[in-house]
Amino acid sequence: MISSILPTYNRAPLAFVAGLGSWLTTCDDRQYLDLGAGIAVNSLGHAHPALVAALTSQANKLWHTSNLYQIPAQQKLADQLVDLTFADTVFFTNSGTEACELAVKMARKYFFDKGEPERVEIITFDGSFHGRSSAGIAAAGSEKLTKGFGPVLGGFVHVPFGGHEALHSAVSEKTAAVMIEPIQGEGGIRQVPDQCLKGLREFCDKHDVLLILDEVQCGVGRSGKLFAHEWAGIEPDIMMVAKGIGGGFPIGAVLATQEAASGMTAGTHGSTYGGNPLGCAVGSAVLDTVSDPAFLMDVSRKAAVMRQGLEGLVSQFSDIFDGVIGSGLMLGLKCSASNIEVVNAGYDVGVLTVPAAENVVRLLPPLNILDEDIITALEKLEKAAQIVRAAL
Ligand SMILES: *Cc1c(COP(=O)(O)O)cnc(C)c1O
Repeated sequence: MISSILPTYNRAPLAFVAGLGSWLTTCDDRQYLDLGAGIAVNSLGHAHPALVAALTSQANKLWHTSNLYQIPAQQKLADQLVDLTFADTVFFTNSGTEACELAVKMARKYFFDKGEPERVEIITFDGSFHGRSSAGIAAAGSEKLTKGFGPVLGGFVHVPFGGHEALHSAVSEKTAAVMIEPIQGEGGIRQVPDQCLKGLREFCDKHDVLLILDEVQCGVGRSGKLFAHEWAGIEPDIMMVAKGIGGGFPIGAVLATQEAASGMTAGTHGSTYGGNPLGCAVGSAVLDTVSDPAFLMDVSRKAAVMRQGLEGLVSQFSDIFDGVIGSGLMLGLKCSASNIEVVNAGYDVGVLTVPAAENVVRLLPPLNILDEDIITALEKLEKAAQIVRAAL
């Protein structure tokens, strides 16, 4: 008989009931160090006092009105994002998938309104992940995501990751945009080199197409900059954000320039919950902390400590690990043993990590992970590696 929860996830036999900082407690009172952070969501760890205060204070006042009215908390968060980024305007969603939906609609509407309605195609990259909606799976395009869910939404052209020539042959008078994750998350912590992001920006300018960045996983401080594309010194036309900006409360956003957003006039898009007071109050509190240059510097410092420890682990366990990849606190252990076995061994020693494609174990700890917790993390990963080695 089917379980009462639709069985679309292979869940670990772990049930958490409380969290504090980088630690989670199970229902039978065991402690786990959380290096997954709900897949890059709990950017400030669990039960961060400022986030709890923002949520409870808003919850005591007002939960929901509607986008039929002005929402002061939404206005505040939009103004913060506009101040901090390339963007002139923001639309709030409840998830990364919904941000993808709007990014795609926005790009197509832009060209439609410009009198180029044939420009509907969006070029995307193998190994990408943009969410589970019909547009999201079509954008990523892998059979793993789309098989059985046809007809697959049209208008996406897929090129290999790093495939410069394929990109040049894919662009045509039908192209509206290029959509890319600066650092692929699900795809195995695959980073687009700064030089390539720069080249991509020039490519889009040259062909008059929009550049959409999916920073749902790599954004909001994870790379050590507020947004990962800042390392390359470029700006997108449209950017998708979610995961980390809510710190655990479901909220996403599409950020855009005035030009790219020009087709999105009253009545062209909407969301009942998007930009609700609760989510926006939390989002503001997250940004207050994460956008502080001193905080971001500390992310880079912690990342360097963690990375150095991981490099040591890789040389100690060269039979299990091939190398360390990623940027900031979006790190990956490239495995030669099975990444799933490494993750499972982590469960045995009380550390949570997340598998990704390309046989990678993802390490996405809270951005404010304590230095002592980094040391504990490295000790636990070493124990996990010993377990995997013993079973080889
Ligand atoms: C998680 C993710 C999404 C989808 O976000 P949801 O909130 O799960 O809908 C989209 N793009 C990237 C890069 C992601 O990591």
